[in-house]
Amino acid sequence: MYLSELALKNFRNYEDVELSFSPKINVLIGENAQGKTNLLEAIYVLAMTRSHRTSSERELLTFKKENATIRGTIERKLGKLKLELILSKKGKKAKVNHLEQARLSQYVGQMNVILFAPEDLALVKGAPAVRRRFIDMEFGQIDPHYLHNLSQYRTILKQRNKYLKQLQSKKAVDLVLLGVLSDQLAAFGAEIIARRLKFLDKLEKYAQEIQNNITQSKENLSFEYEASISEVSEKSVDELYGVLRQSFADNSKKEIFQGTTLYGPHRDDVRFLINMRNVQTYGSQGQQRTTALSVKLAEIELMKEETGEYPILLLDDVLSELDGDRQTHLLKTIQDKVQTFLTTPSLSEITRQLIDDPKIFRIAQGK
Ligand code: ATP
Ligand code: MG
Repeated sequence: MYLSELALKNFRNYEDVELSFSPKINVLIGENAQGKTNLLEAIYVLAMTRSHRTSSERELLTFKKENATIRGTIERKLGKLKLELILSKKGKKAKVNHLEQARLSQYVGQMNVILFAPEDLALVKGAPAVRRRFIDMEFGQIDPHYLHNLSQYRTILKQRNKYLKQLQSKKAVDLVLLGVLSDQLAAFGAEIIARRLKFLDKLEKYAQEIQNNITQSKENLSFEYEASISEVSEKSVDELYGVLRQSFADNSKKEIFQGTTLYGPHRDDVRFLINMRNVQTYGSQGQQRTTALSVKLAEIELMKEETGEYPILLLDDVLSELDGDRQTHLLKTIQDKVQTFLTTPSLSEITRQLIDDPKIFRIAQGK
């Protein structure tokens, strides 16, 4: 799929702009603080309804404005799709072909994007929350059920944590209600873990292949799901549900004492291993970078497998972070099959030679 047109009104430093893009590589060139990342962010928000760099919608509205609009035309195998997102201080509305969508979870998934920014190196190095966020954002795009289960899980998790706090401070005493919340949480949690295991398995195969290509088979990449409950691999949804329920039942005293939920997918993590050693602790900078790149590129292939189409790739300032070989590998992988938007302060001669027929946009002060 690709984004053919984009119109922004009052989005960050873009007051009013209309653009049309190449289905291949689009290069956004500009000095610092001109609006390169803002433009990528707009594309990301159009797909996901939320930003990758802030949870505050207000920040997205041009200073002193009340509403922002992002409109885009997506060309898919099945035809054209007009997407529109209206952001305001009160909330957001999403439209597909001019029809307002009742739920945002129905809207997400029509347009698939993958964003790769220098911060993504933290995918390997960073805290578990970074990897969970990655998994939730990527798998949520592929699978509406994943997204649905996740949003239900989050709602119940909040209620359960609140109730655990009440039990902790003895403002509540009813353990039956805790049991009800535990069962509901276990049900959604089991679905989430099962889907994560399924998708991680597929992602691992693609990432392995890519890592082998980049390192000439010197580095064997593998993933390990690290669950807060005991062993999860090879377990069915029902079995996972059982294990989660049991963990809640066995540890209710501990959870009440701490006033929070200690088990479930919101506490899980994924480890990346090279030749069976954890890249986070034993990997060099270069290996951590390559791993992050392989995982991201693998995501492109996974989305193709699951949705039937390649996603749109957003690369924010990453070329300069990669050495020549890795740049070549990246550009070769995407050339001719994935619509790409890449930002850079300037295009080096080497990169220019690697990119076939780019469409170049010069960006200055939101224009
Ligand atoms: P760099 O090369 O440094 O990454 P960039 O071109 O990616 O730069 P952006 O992050 O896209 O820069 O844009 C930053 C500019 O956008 C800043 O000048 C900032 O003041 C402006 N900006 C950010 N949010 C808003 C907003 N809500 N309203 C108006 N302008 C904004
Ligand atoms: Mg930027």
